[in-house]
Amino acid sequence: MPGKYEELYDELIKRNQEIAIIGSCAGLLGWDERTYMPRSGAQARANQIAYLSGLAHQKFTDPKIGELLKELEQSPLAKDELSDSAVNIREIRDEYDKLIRVPQKLVEEISHTTTMAQGIWTEARAKSDFAKFLPWLEKIIKLELQLANCLGYKKEAYDALLDNYEPGSTYESVVKVFAEFRKELVDLVATIKDSKRKPDLSIIEREYPVDRQAIFGQAAADAIGFDFASGRLDVTTHPFCSGISPGDTRITTRYSPRHFSQAFFGILHEAGHGIYDQGLDKGHFGTPRGHSVSLGIHESQSRMWENFVGRSKPFWKHFLPLAQKTFPEALKSVAFDDFYFAINDVRPSYIRVEADEVSYNLHILLRFELESALLKGDLSAADLPGAWNEKFEQFFGIAPKNDAEGCLQDVHWSCGYIGYFPTYTLGNLYAAQFFAKVREDIKDLDRQFAVGNFSGLKTWLNKNIHTHGKKYRAQKLVQVVTGQPLSHKPLISYLRTKYGELYGF
Ligand code: ZN
Repeated sequence: MPGKYEELYDELIKRNQEIAIIGSCAGLLGWDERTYMPRSGAQARANQIAYLSGLAHQKFTDPKIGELLKELEQSPLAKDELSDSAVNIREIRDEYDKLIRVPQKLVEEISHTTTMAQGIWTEARAKSDFAKFLPWLEKIIKLELQLANCLGYKKEAYDALLDNYEPGSTYESVVKVFAEFRKELVDLVATIKDSKRKPDLSIIEREYPVDRQAIFGQAAADAIGFDFASGRLDVTTHPFCSGISPGDTRITTRYSPRHFSQAFFGILHEAGHGIYDQGLDKGHFGTPRGHSVSLGIHESQSRMWENFVGRSKPFWKHFLPLAQKTFPEALKSVAFDDFYFAINDVRPSYIRVEADEVSYNLHILLRFELESALLKGDLSAADLPGAWNEKFEQFFGIAPKNDAEGCLQDVHWSCGYIGYFPTYTLGNLYAAQFFAKVREDIKDLDRQFAVGNFSGLKTWLNKNIHTHGKKYRAQKLVQVVTGQPLSHKPLISYLRTKYGELYGF
């Protein structure tokens, strides 16, 4: 006979699983919208997704959930803090509080404002006209501050927003690790910029027939462990991965017929996200215990496969001969070292999404410093372009010529995503720290990669990261897995070693 608390817990879990089913239906509709839906279906699709989101929100904010949580928090089921039940109770409470603390009126105002702002931002970016976007940015900052005040925080308003993307992380903890990282990174980017050695980029900008790119990319995703019996790969404009339900994880990419890297590394990146989703514990579907930890930890998985594995020498020992067979016109007479250098080109550039694995992080640090200053009131929105350009020059040694390639380039702020940017660099930092530990645990990792064997790494990630779901918060997971708190050192040392060899320092 289950006791009273077991029954209450079952009720809580049943309600969460129901909400997860609604979420996975919305996810499938969203995937279809971005891949195969005819354009005229947009309005009806928006209504379908809005309806399901509303339904899920209504079910999650049902006062009954609050009552169940209150009883269960006092029960033996919450005692052992790492037990499945305690983890679920803790994380459902966190989510529930976030949802009920924000008045419906504010949710609607943010949604309405950001929908309008995205349209304005698109026009402003096209014309490089910051003044057009300025009033909307001001309004969004005001609304995000209101949101932070409703959510509550101990020290910084920024904490409340960051917590939506990277639960448990704070402004202070991010500043600490980013500040030390920044000093060394600015130096590293400058050293590479001054190096006389430059790769021949024409190698990756030759004719790469799209149908063969698709076959080659799919084979690589399969080889690293993305399970195509539980997933698929399709074409889209802005690539993403959608973990729809257990047994159904979908990745996407876009092909450019005259560029090798874009689609190929994009596929590895999304496959890394997909392998994480496929590695979650299916028995816990629909509960936090079966859910990914955070955006940063998700990004650590995609970056690890894309960069630490996919842009490494051992990986290409195995894959270059195959690539040369698949693309003989482009690659037949290319030497290994030239190819390897071309896919690892580093140079300061204005656009974040086109940046290499070294300078990418400087783009993020810059955004983090500016958005937190905007939120604190240390920087006014009107002064953003000037502050952006000044900091850009200080970080990269070059200055953007206009705001389209400066502070207007990203969609995030127009969507109200303040506190989101740091998760990209946190992802790189987590990835480096995990990967250093993998190297300790699997001594012949490079030899395995060089013969096309990636199952050692995949199994390690399944066991140490994926299967835990939300058992640990991100920073705690890093501590548990690596035995050390999060640090910038593994990433900077990985970058120095790899690029020191390429650029000769
Ligand atoms: Zn990603």
